[in-house]
Amino acid sequence: MFHKLLIANRGEIACRIIRTAKRLGVTTVAVYSEADRAAEHVSFADEAYSLGAPMPSESYLNIEKIIQIAKETQVEAIHPGYGFLSENPDFAEACEAEKIIFVGPPSAVIRKMGLKNEARREMQASKVPVVPGFMGSQSPSVLADMAFKIGFPIVIKPVAGGGGKGMQFVSEPGLFEDALRRAEREAQSAFGNADVLIEKYLPLVRHVEVQIFADQHGSVVHLFERDCSIQRRHQKIIEETPAPHLPDELKRRMWATAITSAKTIGYVGAGTVEFLVDVSIPNPTQFYFMEMNTRLQVEHVVTEMVTGLDLVEWQLLVAAGLPLPLSQDEITFFGHAIETRIYAEEEETFLPAAGKIHHIRWSEPSPNLRIETALKKDDEVSVYYDPLIAKLIAFGRDRSEALQHISKALIDTEVIGVAVNTGLLYQVVQHPEYQQGHFATNFIELQKKVLLFSHRDDIALQALVCGWIAGAWQKAMGWTVNHANTEQNIGLQILNKFYSIPVSFKRSEFLFRDEKSVQHTVAVEVRTPTDISIVLDGQGAFHGKILQLKGASILFWQARAYPFRAQDVNDFEVAEEVGMARELTAPMVGVVAAVFVKPNQLVKKGEKLIILEAMKMEHILVAPYEGSIKKVTVQVGELVPLHGLLIEFL
Ligand code: ADP
Repeated sequence: MFHKLLIANRGEIACRIIRTAKRLGVTTVAVYSEADRAAEHVSFADEAYSLGAPMPSESYLNIEKIIQIAKETQVEAIHPGYGFLSENPDFAEACEAEKIIFVGPPSAVIRKMGLKNEARREMQASKVPVVPGFMGSQSPSVLADMAFKIGFPIVIKPVAGGGGKGMQFVSEPGLFEDALRRAEREAQSAFGNADVLIEKYLPLVRHVEVQIFADQHGSVVHLFERDCSIQRRHQKIIEETPAPHLPDELKRRMWATAITSAKTIGYVGAGTVEFLVDVSIPNPTQFYFMEMNTRLQVEHVVTEMVTGLDLVEWQLLVAAGLPLPLSQDEITFFGHAIETRIYAEEEETFLPAAGKIHHIRWSEPSPNLRIETALKKDDEVSVYYDPLIAKLIAFGRDRSEALQHISKALIDTEVIGVAVNTGLLYQVVQHPEYQQGHFATNFIELQKKVLLFSHRDDIALQALVCGWIAGAWQKAMGWTVNHANTEQNIGLQILNKFYSIPVSFKRSEFLFRDEKSVQHTVAVEVRTPTDISIVLDGQGAFHGKILQLKGASILFWQARAYPFRAQDVNDFEVAEEVGMARELTAPMVGVVAAVFVKPNQLVKKGEKLIILEAMKMEHILVAPYEGSIKKVTVQVGELVPLHGLLIEFL
């Protein structure tokens, strides 16, 4: 084993790798951008060196600088983590040229698997089934013809793609040309390669991948499968192992195919072979190779939980030239593990969010719960890097036990300062279909309505907030518990919504009427400075936690955070008026890629106004209502800040 390792990454994965290296007695060297000077991975490593400006191209993607630091600090190996340079063959090659061990497969293998068309060709040659499709000519008319032949719906994928970027789903021929241009534009901007391929769109599939490991002596093993079907924007947010309701025979064929794929290409190290399983029939029999990832995956931890192995340790052993520690027969599987990815993002739009962390708290880690994060109070979630801020990984003897642990971990999570997707994750793991293991990659899209905040939730939310502040009102208004009182309007602001709630007290309960004038009864069971438990309408029991932060009150309920305050009713009316601002602002930091409207132009609700490009993706902003454009305050190419003014309406 080598003695000194540089970790060319940041965030939770850098910390994850450092932890194992330390356990193995390997000295660790961190690198960081100026935005990460105070980051966890910097203080956790034995040594740390600045790469430069926050932009990834200046820092975590700066091959020359990283190699220079590696040479100066005399490390023997570099672990690239995931993302950034982990699948960059030029980086692996630069390491090889400097005789530094790259923790990953040889550069030639990365180069081959990094291009989806090359990978498909390679797999087809070794009789691995691939999704029906076309790759070759980039002529728009040839591509259009081929799409027609394959049959709509189809998917256009950048050949150099990853992370769902640039991928376009096209339902009918009329939309093909626009989608192709968009795919090429996004591919060029994200990967510096505009080439695409076309695949048949499979409407009902599960994403199931197989973890494999190969050493430098020709041994290849698999570490079972992971189901990563719960996705938004074609990116995973929940992963688990074993994959529920898949026939054993099918799994065995997938494991064997993954091993064949790895052997075919002379694979070394940790790798993942991704498949789509057709679940349009009850007992699935058909799977298709999608791609091979030549690195450690974000979701590797679920595999660690059920095998008891440390995959980073295995990576380091293999990189040092040692044989795989176990043979296939010695690798065992026990229990069930589920990972949820916590992203800094807006729940409804899935757009990345940024901000400073004012408060952060996680569930207590245990043998049943791992928390992988590097984020701490006062850290800045910046727009420069991936918005993944934490992973919660639960283990149980069976799936229902794992589900219980993951639900609790999500409920316990408190993050203030940046929008997070914990509420959505919680709703998924509570959903009966998910709980029964019945889902496909379209789950979130299909269930979005019930996963998002609903009217029913809104009533419970009002009841919880009213229940908690009722004590204060009773005092202020001279109410007494044993006296039924006339109705009083209570002004409340919860998040950005204003309420005027008619409330009256009746013994230990209180009554309130909702926006539809339906009366509800609330019995307060527990009310402490930090806890509120109520029973709503004699049936639904709800529990929330309260946090006081810088003069604001925040209710944590069902893994969502609701800042609230009581206020004057007049106040509320004014605020509602002000709230209806007649302008379009940027939902995120980004560059204006296109402007479709001019002053005095009439627009219909839903009409395209502006394309904002951020995180290498295009976001179309549409008119929120019918109206007339007063002023366009930005130009193409302009960088706009979060909430920056884009358009004023008349
Ligand atoms: P990327 O490399 O950009 O992550 P992938 O090729 O891995 O893209 O696909 C990401 C996700 O998109 C898959 O997990 C799946 O949900 C969906 N997807 C990809 N190809 C198809 C297809 N041919 N039919 C249906 N869904 C697909």
